[in-house]
Amino acid sequence: MSEQEFKRALGYATSAIDLLKRATIPPYPQFYELLYTYATGVNPTLNARINTIFREGDPTVDLAERLYNEFLKSQDANERISNVSERMSARIESVHEAIDTAMTTANAYSGALQMAGGDLDREIEPQALRTMAQRLLSETRSMQEANHQLEQKLEASRDDIAALQRDLDDVRREAMLDPLTKIFNRKYFDEGLVKAFADADIGDAPLCLMLLDIDNFKRFNDTWGHQTGDQVLRLVAMTLKSNIKGKDMAARYGGEEFAAILPHTDLEGAVIVADNIRKAIQAKELLKRSTNEKLGRITASFGVAAFKPGDTPSTLIERTDRCLYAAKHAGRNRVFAETELKPRDVAAA
Ligand code: GH3
Ligand code: MG
Ligand code: MG
Repeated sequence: MSEQEFKRALGYATSAIDLLKRATIPPYPQFYELLYTYATGVNPTLNARINTIFREGDPTVDLAERLYNEFLKSQDANERISNVSERMSARIESVHEAIDTAMTTANAYSGALQMAGGDLDREIEPQALRTMAQRLLSETRSMQEANHQLEQKLEASRDDIAALQRDLDDVRREAMLDPLTKIFNRKYFDEGLVKAFADADIGDAPLCLMLLDIDNFKRFNDTWGHQTGDQVLRLVAMTLKSNIKGKDMAARYGGEEFAAILPHTDLEGAVIVADNIRKAIQAKELLKRSTNEKLGRITASFGVAAFKPGDTPSTLIERTDRCLYAAKHAGRNRVFAETELKPRDVAAA
């Protein structure tokens, strides 16, 4: 970490502590994180909310808790799945209970009907007839009530199941995404590559892999701060995603490296795609969100390789990575295809 970055982070920390003191909010980790994030200015929506709160008086612990939950708390997928299944079990249990009650009432009703049937076969006094009619009426009401309860529970569970379905879809989607850039994560990429291999093995359609790595990103972070670095990662992810299409898949491969699987694309086509992305990244003039300060431009280096029979995902990744290394070696901000690899590059990798 550069001295400049250290000083900047310390400035955010001091400012977070000062704000906590001013609002007499206990400096617990979550509230510190909230006001540290505020101090960095990376989340304009959060800052606007906190500014309004400060304008109207000081935030309470309760408000801080709510803001933390809304903006920063990331519930992990397992916790969310377990919440969903707990709610599902509770709902199923309550429907079971309602079914049991309805069945008991239906049995009692059918017993009452049978008894009344027997009584009607015989001569019956008007008084006894009245009593019987009253009993049947009361049994019918209990039956109606039990059915009504069951209907209500089924109705509520239908809405609940729809909500649970949405929750599960969200959890499933989030499990595939990188939280920072919102493009596919490494795990999903690995699975995607295996699937693309299976398709390429069956047909004779070409398949290419592209890896990109942001140039001198450490220096960028050191100069402008990690938070601004994160914005750049989001920008690169969006640029990558908007320059591919159809069955292509873009993912964050790790740190400041990204990958794209390009099915039905030959090496020549993949080099064109990569070069378009390279130019698009270079063309972006970066501005610091909180201050509109100009941050210059960034560039990225690319490696591109094509699937060939006998390849496994790891041999293709390895070749693509070697191309990326060669692109860095050749001066960065360029696309290197495997056809350009020389024995020297192979040896250097
Ligand atoms: P090169 O051109 O050779 O790729 O140089 P580089 O500085 O980009 O490469 P190096 O591997 O030395 O440094 C990678 C940097 O990427 C260091 C690390 O701080 C930064 N980085 C990795 N992940 C993240 C992240 O999630 N957020 C931010 N802001 N920076 C990250
Ligand atoms: Mg790297
Ligand atoms: Mg890099």
